[in-house]
Amino acid sequence: MSFSELRKNMVQNQLIKRGIKDERVLSAMGSIPREIFVSDHLRNSAYDDSPLLIGNEQTISQPYIVAKMTELLEVKNDHIVLEIGTGSGYQAAVLSQLALRVFTIERITDLRKSSEANLKSMNITNVFVINGDGTIGLSQYAPFDRIMVTAAGPKIPKNLIDQMKDNSIIVMPVGDMKEQKLIRGVKAGGKFEIEEHDLCRFVPLLGKYGFSDVGV
Ligand code: SAM
Repeated sequence: MSFSELRKNMVQNQLIKRGIKDERVLSAMGSIPREIFVSDHLRNSAYDDSPLLIGNEQTISQPYIVAKMTELLEVKNDHIVLEIGTGSGYQAAVLSQLALRVFTIERITDLRKSSEANLKSMNITNVFVINGDGTIGLSQYAPFDRIMVTAAGPKIPKNLIDQMKDNSIIVMPVGDMKEQKLIRGVKAGGKFEIEEHDLCRFVPLLGKYGFSDVGV
């Protein structure tokens, strides 16, 4: 089967059948070639219903989780989005199809470089990859319309909440190192309210306001 057929099957069997409905999200997931974001030896597994290793002990998330988090984020085409945890750049590429601009922060320099190369190979020009600790946010470009954290933390860092606009949304896996829940936080009218969604398993968010780097 060709990659484009595998991609169509992934959208139908892993996303639509499990309840992803947002047409813009389905169309973005149906157009971004996931095989570009994994190493050569894993290309044939790029559309498997699972996360895959991308080097440096990190992962590209399962397609369903990427779609679910993106759907929960309700991105509009004039939005400025901040992503924490660039990894392969795949989630940022999906967001690039939905938002005006995407800033994405990665703490591991090798992944920052490879994700930038992946995005460049697709001629994506509205994603900006930054090396650093995403738990402190990106105050120079704040406030953001939407924030997505693609690594698991013990709680939503306060810095990130402070860098959200009024009427904005953040989506992040929150829990312990073993298991988390996808949390959606909505900031509106001076209030910050959270909802709990799917159970998930992410690699840890390491940094000043994430899990400690020591012993991991
Ligand atoms: N969104 C990625 C993709 O599409 O491939 C997958 C993200 S992977 C599950 C989590 C990433 O978060 C890893 O690349 C890891 O290095 C990064 N990370 C962990 N803590 C971080 C931090 N404090 N700041 C920035 N990146 C962080």
